[in-house]
Amino acid sequence: MKMCIACGMPMTCIADYPLHDLSKNYCKYCAHEDGSMKSFDEKWQEVTLRYAKNHNVDYPIAKQTAYVILKKLPAWKRQW
Ligand SMILES: [Zn+2]
Repeated sequence: MKMCIACGMPMTCIADYPLHDLSKNYCKYCAHEDGSMKSFDEKWQEVTLRYAKNHNVDYPIAKQTAYVILKKLPAWKRQW
């Protein structure tokens, strides 16, 4: 089973893949409508908002935490 390189989500079925393309290493949530992978900034923003909502923390804290979470993932390890 593959794990999304950009968000860490397990990709368990074909529906999790962008455009149902099993050759991709990232999930549909990390892809644009055309199937290309989202940028670090886009994912950072998404994870920040989700984290702030789920954990009820302030935006700056969520942003910092989201950065740490994302930097552990293969897609973003070497960038930035
Ligand atoms: Zn993903």
